[in-house]
Amino acid sequence: MQRLIRLAQSTTIAWNHYVSIRSLRLPAACTEVPDASCWKCQKSLDSAKEKFFCGGCDSIQPPVKCANYFQYLDIPLNYNVDTDQLQSTFKQLQGKLHPDRFAQRSTSEKLFSDQQSSLVNLAYRTLLQPLDRANYLLRMVGQETGEETSTLDPKFLMEMLELNEAVEEMDDVDELQKMGENAKKELARCQESLAQSFHDDDMSRAKAVTDEMRYYLRIKTNVDKKLGFA
Ligand SMILES: [Zn+2]
Repeated sequence: MQRLIRLAQSTTIAWNHYVSIRSLRLPAACTEVPDASCWKCQKSLDSAKEKFFCGGCDSIQPPVKCANYFQYLDIPLNYNVDTDQLQSTFKQLQGKLHPDRFAQRSTSEKLFSDQQSSLVNLAYRTLLQPLDRANYLLRMVGQETGEETSTLDPKFLMEMLELNEAVEEMDDVDELQKMGENAKKELARCQESLAQSFHDDDMSRAKAVTDEMRYYLRIKTNVDKKLGFA
């Protein structure tokens, strides 16, 4: 975690210009950006406290130009996220930023509220899901993620393939439920292992566990689909 924390500290949060949501999808591998001032009253903004509204004139601001999702939502940088805190931050921000609140405002304010609430949504979903969160933390330290970079043991991959085929052919509700329970247990094990790996700064282990997790999540999703939950 030290490596991630250092990385986050070295990243200056700043804003000023319009940035597309897409360009903010990527984490904080960004270089220093100069501090900014309010587009309306020109007051210089505190990058930690005025990411959404100017403390002087209370105007909504455009999204930060450079920040990772943890900084953006003011959530401690850690694999283990306090989901209650995350959810209440999300609700609070969405309440203030929702485009309905800006329907009578200027075009710029409408645009900023639209961008900010989309970005808050994206950041929230990424940090809430254990797999997405792991992928995000890995990308923050420059680790490639995704299937094409997987280094998993062919034996494990074969096993996963067989499990998926087994789910495909399963009709018995009890059997499906059992399979779902097993996948859930494996997912919980992966989460624990990820928390430890990130804590130890062991990124290659974190990457391997993240890859494993993707497969178990697929099984779980397929089981849920068959059971009519998804
Ligand atoms: Zn202002």
